[in-house]
Amino acid sequence: MPSRRSFLSDFAARVLVPSILAAGGIATLLLYVVNGIFDETNRLDAGYAKQSASSAINTSLENLESLIHDNAVWDDAVANAYGDINTEWLNGTWGDATALGIYDHVNLVERSGRTLYTASNGDQTTDSAENIYGAEILELLAPMPADETLFKVTSGIVRKDNELYVVAAAPILPTSEDVEIPSGKARFLIFGKTVDNKLLAELSRRFVLKNLHVSSSLINAPDSISILSPSGVRIGTLAWEERSPGDILKSKYSSVIRIMLALFLFVIAVLIYTSWRGFRDAHESQTAAVAKSLRDDLTGLANRRELLSVLTDQLHEARIGRTGLSLVYADLDGFKEVNDSYGHEVGDLLLKAVAAGFAHLAQDMGLVARLGGDEFAIIVTGKDSTARSRELANNMISFLSEPMIFGGRVASVSVSVGIVDLERDDADVEEIIRRADVAMYAAKSAGRNRLHIYDKTLDYKRDENRSIARALREHIDMGRLTVVYQPIVDSRSRRIRGVEALVRWPKDDRIHYTPDVFIPVAEESGLIEDLGYFVLSEACKQAAQWPDIFVSINVSPVQFMNPGFAELVERTLTRTGLQATRLELEVTEGFIIDNSDRANVIINRLHDMKVGVALDDFGTGFSSIGHLRRFKFDKLKLDRSMVTDILRQPSALRLVQGTIAMADALGLMVVAEGVEDENQVSVLRLAGCSQFQGFLFSRPVSAQEIGSMLTAAAPLATSA
Ligand code: C2E
Ligand code: MG
Ligand code: MG
Repeated sequence: MPSRRSFLSDFAARVLVPSILAAGGIATLLLYVVNGIFDETNRLDAGYAKQSASSAINTSLENLESLIHDNAVWDDAVANAYGDINTEWLNGTWGDATALGIYDHVNLVERSGRTLYTASNGDQTTDSAENIYGAEILELLAPMPADETLFKVTSGIVRKDNELYVVAAAPILPTSEDVEIPSGKARFLIFGKTVDNKLLAELSRRFVLKNLHVSSSLINAPDSISILSPSGVRIGTLAWEERSPGDILKSKYSSVIRIMLALFLFVIAVLIYTSWRGFRDAHESQTAAVAKSLRDDLTGLANRRELLSVLTDQLHEARIGRTGLSLVYADLDGFKEVNDSYGHEVGDLLLKAVAAGFAHLAQDMGLVARLGGDEFAIIVTGKDSTARSRELANNMISFLSEPMIFGGRVASVSVSVGIVDLERDDADVEEIIRRADVAMYAAKSAGRNRLHIYDKTLDYKRDENRSIARALREHIDMGRLTVVYQPIVDSRSRRIRGVEALVRWPKDDRIHYTPDVFIPVAEESGLIEDLGYFVLSEACKQAAQWPDIFVSINVSPVQFMNPGFAELVERTLTRTGLQATRLELEVTEGFIIDNSDRANVIINRLHDMKVGVALDDFGTGFSSIGHLRRFKFDKLKLDRSMVTDILRQPSALRLVQGTIAMADALGLMVVAEGVEDENQVSVLRLAGCSQFQGFLFSRPVSAQEIGSMLTAAAPLATSA
């Protein structure tokens, strides 16, 4: 049976772990990709920002370059900036403009770097260009062409102390050919603008760079670019605050992503839960199916499969532990009859009641199983299993000794029990069951309603019985059995009063069996019903042709137990035309004891029909005078063993005398069986016996011979 543990680990291995791994993998991958996108966005933007910053610097330089270009190439400028400079003009044209913030400083310099004019922030000063910008300013003049008619603009960023300046320089040249500049005396115009907060703010705005600022630190920070002097020396850093659009996206969408992730995990959880339920249902139905396959539907007891499996285990354990194990094997007697006459519903109720009873009796002993039909088996284990199994079997027998009532119907069954004990040999489960079955059949053959314990000799008997049963079946089917009749004579007149019908195995058969052998086999194998019916029909048909005399027919307990028996007798009488008063049925005591209430019901029923009932074989087995009182027999047949003993044992004679006196008092007629000599006749007649049957008068003979005897009408066995 699949255990809960194996179910859970199976579920974990097949669903839970793979699902969690897959879901975890997908979620991690998703987060990795999304974070990657954000980081990439940040990284790309950082690149763009760097480009923007470079552009900001270049634009500042280009702006200043074009401004200087406009101011330097101009006839008026040549006229006023060469030779003796016209300070007034210079102030009015360039100096005043330094106050407007377009550029902050203007210088007029010679190629050597000597400053001729300076104005800063609206005022003319005496500062040289070097004073304002440092020596690096001269680098702008170095690339200027030697040919003084050629124009060139240079620009760059320079540093003086902690201040950075955007600077541009260009030679002052005329636009027209009317004006000339003195050769070798080229003069240059320099514009400079402080890189101040205003400029940086303006660039920040134009180039969408946040908090653009200049840092004197020369460390390579990520969100910065180096500022180089015209000679290529690093003089500062232009830095800004990173924009990190990826981070913005991240903070904007993180809640969405978290919800998506939660939804995804929820879906996975739902899927896991759904498949868990499916798994659990499948497991439960499988467990239920397994449990059901081991149970007997009708009674709820274990079934054959379960018995085999448990027996296999316990057999093994008993062998290892050297403890006892007994298998109690029970088969109900007369169940078929209950089923046939009351129907399957009552049959089922009976089986359930029996099952419950057995289960109760076998409490704490071991497994109780129904093997099908009316067969049950109980495993008894432990040191005292031998004693306990016997006790259990006896309890089972007495449990069924009283009839059960179902909806007003009386159902009476008994039980034949076989017990097999674990032996030293290595018999397997199948063999143990077979032995228990053999023992149970032995109990059936011995007259049912009893216990039989397996021993090896049973096996030989069983084989022989099987072949007898097989042959008997054939003889019944082929109508080969015959019936002989033994006269029963009046004790005084010795004339035939009746005959006992006795069945005979066919004479021409290879092996010949006597009724003592084949009748028990017929009872055990169920053939007795057909055999009994054959004898009943045959004897009634025959007797109907004889005048007056009665016919006595042996009825086996199995037939008598059948609730339909009385009807069968009635129908046979009608069919054969025999008067009921001429029919007598012989039953044995064993049956009466086993089924007292039932027997009384049937005996009364037969009496109502006017059919006589004789108690056969009195003096064997449990003979009890008490039974004579309890049951309304018409006749008592003293068994041959009793009759034989009377001449040898005075006690036997006294017993016979007492029995006859008792029977007399109860109004029963007494017949002595097995009368073989005249001495017996005289003693028995004196004791009050009214009829005799025995070889002295006649052996059992054919119907024709009985016919001749009746025709002769002579008394039998008279010496005269
Ligand atoms: P039973 O009913 O007691 O029948 C009497 C038996 O005693 C018969 O044996 C008969 O042959 C034998 N017998 C009669 N007189 C003498 C005698 O003077 N000396 C000796 N030694 N034996 C005598 P049988 O025919 O072998 O039958 C044996 C038993 O088989 C019967 O005992 C009866 O129980 C059973 N039986 C016979 N026929 C039938 C039958 O048709 N149906 C049933 N159910 N049982 C039958
Ligand atoms: Mg008899
Ligand atoms: Mg008899």
